[in-house]
Amino acid sequence: MDCGLFQERKFKERNWSAFPVEPSSLQAVLLTHAHLDHCGLLPKLVKEGFRGRVHCTAATAEIARYVLLDSARLQEEDAEFKQKRHEREGRAGRFPAAPLYTEEDAERALPLFSTVEYGERLELGSGLSAVFQEAGHILGSASVRIEFGENGRKRSVLYSGDVGRWDRPIIRDPAPAAESDYILMESTYGGSRHEDVGGIEAALAEAVVSTCRAGGNLLIPSFALERTQEVLYYLNRLLAADRIPHVLVFVDSPMAVSVTEVFLRHPGLFDEDMRRLLLTGHSPFQFPGLSMVRSAGESKAINRIRGTAVIIAGSGMCTGGRIKHHLANNIGRKESTILFVGYQAEGTLGREILSGAGQLRILGQSYRRRARVLKINGFSAHADQEELLRWLKGVREPPRRLFLTHGEPPAVEALAAAVQEHRAWAAYSPAYGETVNLD
Ligand SMILES: [Zn+2]
Repeated sequence: MDCGLFQERKFKERNWSAFPVEPSSLQAVLLTHAHLDHCGLLPKLVKEGFRGRVHCTAATAEIARYVLLDSARLQEEDAEFKQKRHEREGRAGRFPAAPLYTEEDAERALPLFSTVEYGERLELGSGLSAVFQEAGHILGSASVRIEFGENGRKRSVLYSGDVGRWDRPIIRDPAPAAESDYILMESTYGGSRHEDVGGIEAALAEAVVSTCRAGGNLLIPSFALERTQEVLYYLNRLLAADRIPHVLVFVDSPMAVSVTEVFLRHPGLFDEDMRRLLLTGHSPFQFPGLSMVRSAGESKAINRIRGTAVIIAGSGMCTGGRIKHHLANNIGRKESTILFVGYQAEGTLGREILSGAGQLRILGQSYRRRARVLKINGFSAHADQEELLRWLKGVREPPRRLFLTHGEPPAVEALAAAVQEHRAWAAYSPAYGETVNLD
């Protein structure tokens, strides 16, 4: 199940350690979705001998392709950067300056992908089968239920993957958990409650209208996958309802453009609202004034536009990508606005801007911040505590065991307490690397 890359600084070392099982001994990987923390070590697995199949939905396979190639490029750039720094400082680092994997390694992983439909029973041999269910997290995301064992002694394991949310734009709601002997459930926001989403549209409208009035640009740093498409969805709705002026909107990120094309290829994965919207001829991904920008030349041309443009560019935390150029051009203009729509981790440029720093270094130059800075909360692709419990409601019989994974200790503890309170089930959080017998 999954083969993710550790992105947290404190766990990065794990990316370099040996896999807990010999890669060549594995026959298959079942991949829940295309986020890097679920698929990002597949190129390394292949590099170290895996020759089996990677089973996932078609949308996941298409998105994972861009995610893995992009990750490989970043790994190579990082290694090069580290190498140069070590040479300059005349020392060796803790990790090798070689990339974790290269673009070539990522390319080699792609032919191993094999697609499966939601609800289809995938026979994996030796009496083992798997069924993928909608997880409602990002396009193509799934929870996976595995059955194994002989007649009379069958067992099932349900692996939640990342559980999404109900009534979110574009994609469908999560399918409730299915009755299973063992359940592994994510707990990322197991201790939280998300804000009401009702405020998103009003806040976005206000940001566009006031930036238009001031005559500056509206910059929205955004991740290429899901968040960018959600922002487009809301902008399109506001335009259709005449709640904002007809501004030019640019998605200035080759990866976001590619991922948006994957969305367009899979209208079958959209929810009712989105399908109705498309039937009336209002596509959030193809509306008047919207430009999808791939080339660097077109990207530079955006800076010459007079009047207001909405510019959506990566990276989401301003740590790289084209958003940096747009920030350099706009951060010193009091008529421009920088609008954050996602979490800004400590130590990132995004966090620095959001925390109100007056002087900022962008692309090697120092800028005085005069632009307005805003943040919209409420965008999240992860279920909160209430939604995780809602997902679990699909299960009536207590499972033989319930495992909580994928969360910081306080989130795991809070969710375990909530499950105890609402279902009277004991949940267990295994340690990293712990082995548990499923008997
Ligand atoms: Zn995810």
